[in-house]
Amino acid sequence: MAGLTESLGRLQERFAAAAAAVTGERELEALRVHYLGRNGEVTQLRRTIGTLPPDERREAGKAINDVVADMEALLEDAAGALRSRALETELAQSIDVTFPAPSCGLGSIHPVRRIIERTCDYFTRHGFAVVLGPEAEPEYYNFDALNIPDDHPARENFDSFWLNGGIVLRPHTSPIQVRTMQRYPPPVAIVAPGKCYRRDATDARHLYAFHQIEGLLVAEGIHFGHLKGTLEHLCREIFGPQQSVRFRPSYFPFTEPSAEVDTTCPKCGGTGHVAENARCAMCGGSGWIELGGAGMVHPNVLLEVKYDPDKYSGWAFGFGVERLGLALYEVDDIRRFVNSDPDFLAQLR
Ligand SMILES: [Zn+2]
Repeated sequence: MAGLTESLGRLQERFAAAAAAVTGERELEALRVHYLGRNGEVTQLRRTIGTLPPDERREAGKAINDVVADMEALLEDAAGALRSRALETELAQSIDVTFPAPSCGLGSIHPVRRIIERTCDYFTRHGFAVVLGPEAEPEYYNFDALNIPDDHPARENFDSFWLNGGIVLRPHTSPIQVRTMQRYPPPVAIVAPGKCYRRDATDARHLYAFHQIEGLLVAEGIHFGHLKGTLEHLCREIFGPQQSVRFRPSYFPFTEPSAEVDTTCPKCGGTGHVAENARCAMCGGSGWIELGGAGMVHPNVLLEVKYDPDKYSGWAFGFGVERLGLALYEVDDIRRFVNSDPDFLAQLR
């Protein structure tokens, strides 16, 4: 037994030194076979157990098993070390940390949102509050309170999406005017951006869901000149210092008098042509582009919100934000604002 213990000790030392020096998986496997294989050194030692006195055999078997367990643990450690060394080598070869990183596709503010922000910025600098309202409104706020009674033909101009219970997806942002005036006494000065919905067939100039921005100023002594000055300066801020505005007589039930508002075509500068004999495509040669409607708030609307029309007067306007975008960014098709085309959006960034 003493001889066996001594042999095992020497064998274990040799094995440990060899395992520490292993540099590859094949070498490691060869080491395992040499010691633990069918004809390995340990197996041969095990065969000598039969030559020992019977009372020593059990102890000898246990000693050999202990050594085998240690050796297997060492083999496992050596294999793990080889694997991590291989990974390090691979990483060192395949990663060039100086290589430029691929673009991660940074987003940008949507052009429609940017126009809303610029317009709101103009108005807040002039003392207006930005107000939002619900997109689904009862008929009352969409029509009745805005001087459009049930049988009024103008109601048909707002070809709307109806929900259950007389609720309408608002076809304009004007309900916000009513809600604001019912809540606050005059004077009020607000700008109200938001989504609107109409049952329009989609084409290059129409969307069934679009954005409007609405302005309202009601106080004592407000007249049409204030409206003209405000919109002219707004257009100059958005499009450039040369802009002028034009008012064409129109009809809306909630304003009197009412007007369509145009501004100088920013593409041709109001001349109607971009080069000699080349008609401007953006304004169709007219030199003007449409922005939306405006006018003096109808006395019936003021009465509805319990403002005294003999004391107070006001103006209101409503512009299509995407329409502004067509002119501002020289875009030929309004659908491009909703197509989520990253190239288009990057162009306007
Ligand atoms: Zn033009």
